[in-house]
Amino acid sequence: RSKLFGRGIFSFYDEKLDKELAERSILTGELRKAIDEEQFKLFYQPQFASDGTTLKGYEALLRWVHPTLGLQMPDKFIPLAEETGLIVPLGKWVLHTACAQAASWPEELSVAVNLSAVQLRQQDLVEDVARALDVSGLSAYRLELEITESMLMSNTTQITQTLGRLSAMGVRIAMDDFGTGYSSMAYLWRFPFDKLKIDRAFTESIAVDSKVDAVVKSIISLAHSLQMQVNAEGIETMDQLEALRSLECDEVQGYMLGRPVPEDQLVHKRESKDAGSSSITAIKPFDV
Ligand code: C2E
Ligand code: MG
Ligand code: MG
Ligand code: MG
Repeated sequence: RSKLFGRGIFSFYDEKLDKELAERSILTGELRKAIDEEQFKLFYQPQFASDGTTLKGYEALLRWVHPTLGLQMPDKFIPLAEETGLIVPLGKWVLHTACAQAASWPEELSVAVNLSAVQLRQQDLVEDVARALDVSGLSAYRLELEITESMLMSNTTQITQTLGRLSAMGVRIAMDDFGTGYSSMAYLWRFPFDKLKIDRAFTESIAVDSKVDAVVKSIISLAHSLQMQVNAEGIETMDQLEALRSLECDEVQGYMLGRPVPEDQLVHKRESKDAGSSSITAIKPFDV
């Protein structure tokens, strides 16, 4: 390649890199301050039984209420929080806040908290979960921890121990984004999963592509034969809901059923047509 052309490219990338590094260090500083000042908020997305109306609980989804930029989604700051280690204090805040808020909900409802790989490698994770339950008074079985398969690839022994201890405490473990990693299958029997969450990438093509339906059907039956529940993420249409119900999926979650909302906007309403039933229905489950 010509010398001139090559140099041009290099100086262009150098400048870009400098700018990115500068932005990154500003953002890191802001993130550190945000953790000190608790500029975060948990949104909650409802999870329903596959009838689409019986509320089972909520998944906690983190938002950063940035003082000047406004509400920031996790993809904007979680990768940096993970790289800098700030996810450890931030993850603790999420865990403690989610447990405290869930403790005030009706007892039938559970809360799902996303864990980062960095948190899973912390020696004090199990103690911290125990502390969050103890302080909040939330029963262990009402807490579900979501981990992704990519987290399981390294240091298997330590992770097996950690998940085993959490499981023994009664906390439920869910595998998030199932089917998107390299070797989802290999992890299924090695770790004590209670639930498998089928990634939105599958849900998207359900009821459109019969091959996808066949794959999902076999994932569900595999999970059931391993005593795991199945949640399908990202339900956006009635067709998807109906197809998943007929495939005997246990739990559904998605924009059609309910978007993530701040804690103070949650309505846990008891099902009206059957007064004796203890099941709970969100007020307008199909409201988009
Ligand atoms: P996730 O755990 O797989 O969460 C599901 C994501 O899909 C959420 O995005 C949710 O708002 C979105 N979603 C739900 N239903 C639908 C739907 O019907 N259609 C579409 N298009 N999207 C839907 P969000 O809140 O932006 O979170 C993205 C990811 O950030 C999460 O993926 C999770 O991996 C991570 N995350 C969120 N909160 C936390 C947290 O507290 N700690 C950690 N470590 N990660 C978190
Ligand atoms: Mg999740
Ligand atoms: Mg997911
Ligand atoms: Mg995800």
